[in-house]
Amino acid sequence: MSQGNEGYRLEAPVVVQVGHRGRVRGRTGAPGEVELCLTLARRLRENVCKRGVDCRVVDAWDRRGRIRTGAFLSLHADGARSSSVSGYSLGFPPECRDYAGDIAHAYKEAVDLPFRGANTTSALREYYMWRRVDGPKCLLELCFVTNPDDVGEVLFRLGNITDELGGVLADWGSRFQARLK
Ligand SMILES: [Zn+2]
Repeated sequence: MSQGNEGYRLEAPVVVQVGHRGRVRGRTGAPGEVELCLTLARRLRENVCKRGVDCRVVDAWDRRGRIRTGAFLSLHADGARSSSVSGYSLGFPPECRDYAGDIAHAYKEAVDLPFRGANTTSALREYYMWRRVDGPKCLLELCFVTNPDDVGEVLFRLGNITDELGGVLADWGSRFQARLK
């Protein structure tokens, strides 16, 4: 990683972003969101590296950062006023449909939570990482952090989630890694 006039530059086969981490104002996330996502991100890094593919965990840094990668996954967890709202969802740009499909399939295999749908609308374009990441990218809302049963399910299945998602990330990342050599 180097820092020039345009800020951070990172090139890595797999990049897992911990949503909101490092932000002190504005969108700092739902209470408990960063901790849950960080727990999974660290497990994913370990899993992907064990498969021989380099994986970086990054924070939600400033707008100047730029990333080139073979697989970018931004981890989040939703919040709702009602603790009964449950499920996971995905966000991805239209050109990343194949990659997001692999992520969705892997996550579905790992957890017993309702799928709330995918967001490919232009609203996500305001999410700065969309413009700052070159490569397959996807945002995953793991569950509702405001629902104790949802969080319990994610923590209970952490090993499965890590294995399933780690496999997809390593697969996409290894193609990128091969091109670098
Ligand atoms: Zn979030």
